[in-house]
Amino acid sequence: MKTSTRVCVIGGGVVGCSALYHLTKLGWSDVMLVERSELTSGSTWHAAGGFHTLNGDTNMAALQGYTIRLYSELEAMTGMSCGLHHVGGVTLADTPERFDMLKAERAKHRFMGLETEILGPDEIKAIAPITNVEGVLGGLYDPLDGHLDPSGTTHAYAKAARMGGATIETHCMVRETNQRADGTWDVVTDKGTIHAEHVVNAGGLWAREVGAMAGVYLPLHPMEHQYLVTDDLPEIYEREVEHPHVMDPGGESYLRQEGRGLCIGFYEQPCKPWAVGGTPWEFGHELLPDDYDKIEDSIAFAYRRYPILERAGVKTVIHGPFTFAPDGNPLVGPVPGLRNYWSACGVMAGFSQGGGVGLTLAQWMVEGEPERDVFAMDVARFGRWITPGYTLPKVVENYQNRFSVVYPNEELPAARPFRTTPMYDVFDSMGAVWGQQYGLEVPNYFAQGDEPRYETPSFRRSNAFEATAREVMAVRGAVGINEVQNFGKYSVTGSGARAWLNRIMAGRIPKPGRISLTPMLAHSGRLIGDFTVACLSESEFRLTASYGAQDFHMRWFEGQLSDDVKIANISDRSTGFQIAGPRARDLLAKVTRADVSNAAFRFLDVKQLSVGMMQATVQRVSYTGDLGYEIYVDAMEQRALWHLLWDAGQEFGLKPFGMRAMMSLRLDKFFGSWMREFSPDYMPGETGMDRFIQWDKNFIGKSAADTERAEGPARQLCSFIVDADDADVIAYEPIWLEGTVQGFCTSGGYSHFAGKSVAFGFVPSERAVEGLEVEIEILGNMHKARLVTDMLFDADGARMRG
Ligand SMILES: Cc1cc2nc3c(=O)[nH]c(=O)nc-3n(C[C@H](O)[C@H](O)[C@H](O)COP(=O)(O)OP(=O)(O)OC[C@H]3O[C@@H](n4cnc5c(N)ncnc54)[C@H](O)[C@@H]3O)c2cc1C
Repeated sequence: MKTSTRVCVIGGGVVGCSALYHLTKLGWSDVMLVERSELTSGSTWHAAGGFHTLNGDTNMAALQGYTIRLYSELEAMTGMSCGLHHVGGVTLADTPERFDMLKAERAKHRFMGLETEILGPDEIKAIAPITNVEGVLGGLYDPLDGHLDPSGTTHAYAKAARMGGATIETHCMVRETNQRADGTWDVVTDKGTIHAEHVVNAGGLWAREVGAMAGVYLPLHPMEHQYLVTDDLPEIYEREVEHPHVMDPGGESYLRQEGRGLCIGFYEQPCKPWAVGGTPWEFGHELLPDDYDKIEDSIAFAYRRYPILERAGVKTVIHGPFTFAPDGNPLVGPVPGLRNYWSACGVMAGFSQGGGVGLTLAQWMVEGEPERDVFAMDVARFGRWITPGYTLPKVVENYQNRFSVVYPNEELPAARPFRTTPMYDVFDSMGAVWGQQYGLEVPNYFAQGDEPRYETPSFRRSNAFEATAREVMAVRGAVGINEVQNFGKYSVTGSGARAWLNRIMAGRIPKPGRISLTPMLAHSGRLIGDFTVACLSESEFRLTASYGAQDFHMRWFEGQLSDDVKIANISDRSTGFQIAGPRARDLLAKVTRADVSNAAFRFLDVKQLSVGMMQATVQRVSYTGDLGYEIYVDAMEQRALWHLLWDAGQEFGLKPFGMRAMMSLRLDKFFGSWMREFSPDYMPGETGMDRFIQWDKNFIGKSAADTERAEGPARQLCSFIVDADDADVIAYEPIWLEGTVQGFCTSGGYSHFAGKSVAFGFVPSERAVEGLEVEIEILGNMHKARLVTDMLFDADGARMRG
């Protein structure tokens, strides 16, 4: 056995083999895979082998498209069969909400180049005749859907990897992974120790156990899953063409032809987690006992949808476990806090996603970063707060919701409340309707009187509309208060802090007492952060950014650290409130003796102030685009600060506001938002973030940013006023110009202040001029929209700066 390698991939399921192949594809041939048994000895061997592109996350959908297109390439390269059946598939909609979701998906596919199609019930019946279309409103047809042979495909990946120089060691169980001081790894196996520069955990069903060998907790959990294969059915084998896949979300089932019969699987509500205490090492090529009880209701539903099933005998039952992360997406990338340790696990749809996961991982390892925004499957999207106790109920919820409509405003209830601030009870008693961000409870809005404490999930304007309008007007008309807990906050200290920040951040690093806004770029020049930097002194800076990106940002920071600088994540230690609106200064003046007049405390100043009993860091900046201040104190003092501000604020009409109002207020000033307008999919020039760049210094990503600047971006992020009815832009709606799709939206919503529907999106740069008339497709309907450049509130900044 080889005892030294650049990469040791642990696990020979479809994901490990894909990762191994992609490493060779990108030029690393000194790579090996170790498998405790034969290849495909985990979930892989008993998969139903179905594949599809549909995914709520656009980049995940693109990677699924990549995976599916890869199979014929693999077959051609290796001469091995993946057993491909490109039969196409249709997802049914039996409620208007589900039909809305499918139409929104179809619209996204237009600019992704996916040839999906909305079908009516008769068209569905024509291509999938065994379907009872009663109650079906329509469906989304995807010609790329199909199925394959899981074992053949995994072996094809393995052969392709071997052809690229990789070695595979089967019957080689990994017992320990021990890191050396230089960051390389000793992988201790039954056949000896392998010295590897990098370790990839592709342990599938055993990924938790493999992770624990390196002291890592990877948030995933196995679930039991069952599908049935019927006896031969003449209605199937007498057909001239293979029956397409039918996904029936209403019945939580997927169905396809298997040989001369059918195969149907269920995501049943009475589902069961498997191996809660850990996956036994002796589990291998066996199945779980049949369990008809838990799928009884699903089968009854399936009999109505596909009456043919009632007289079909069951030939085989496949019941096995596979793993899920809390949100159902894979866990991929460098594990935060560890060097040279990579995750490629939590892949619940290995045959839809395995290729994309392998490609992403290989790009990250070989080229330093993936080619697109992969946050939806980044292992860093869960913070270090995550625990097995949280993961389990979330995974159960995810399994149960596998076929549910995913609403943009939906707040899923499992494992909540978990992380709360000292304000939880206070806000709760004030009618807070809660959302969750990165495990943290955050007020979305405050219900009043007999308004329900629950926001109706919807693609259209929800029942939060009135409350949001009320909170927006309270800010614009007087003063609003909102917790600043949900910002990621970092303290950067040390003699080298300024020099370090100058290299890490593309923008100007402010002088003591001042604040600046700056993008952070990857080496490729793409955006990996939009930060507010406050300079407290030459050796102490505060950074604020997105709360949900904490591990994502810390992983990057830690990878760039030098000896003369220290960085600490203080997101949960430093908290407080922002106050915003025309009376915000009056309120601040009432709680501090300091001079907070405009002359003494200017826009983008930062000051250490005595506020009541607290020593606070106060920043004059507000994401509402209004006159506003962010007041930060130690978390232990947050309630005292609240009572002080709340009592003092009554005479100025102080009202609390939540995230829904915040996201409406930002629209008035065309402020972009992290992971919407700004993400690793975009460059600074095309998003307008280049205006914050300090071009005469060296920073990470400079040469790529320079190139974009010299060439000029091909597309430009713009703002639009949309002639909408009851539904606003959410994200990724296509933008039509003269009858063709020429751009897409990044986000949007309703400006309650301006009474207008606003959208942000990209159009070709040469068309990005004031007054451009476009059409935006929202939920399948075309809406006129006009490009605008004048902000809807405080266009000259007089209020924000005054
Ligand atoms: C009933 C069922 C039906 C399914 N249907 C579909 C479907 O239609 N389409 C689809 O896309 N997906 C389907 N899946 C899911 C699919 O099977 C998984 O997404 C996929 O197999 C995950 O592959 P993996 O490589 O991550 O993990 P695994 O297949 O579990 O592979 C992990 C491998 O790592 C090895 N390993 C673990 N620990 C060690 C160690 N310490 N040392 C050495 N080797 C180790 C194991 O032996 C194993 O071979 C289904 C799953 C089930 C259970």
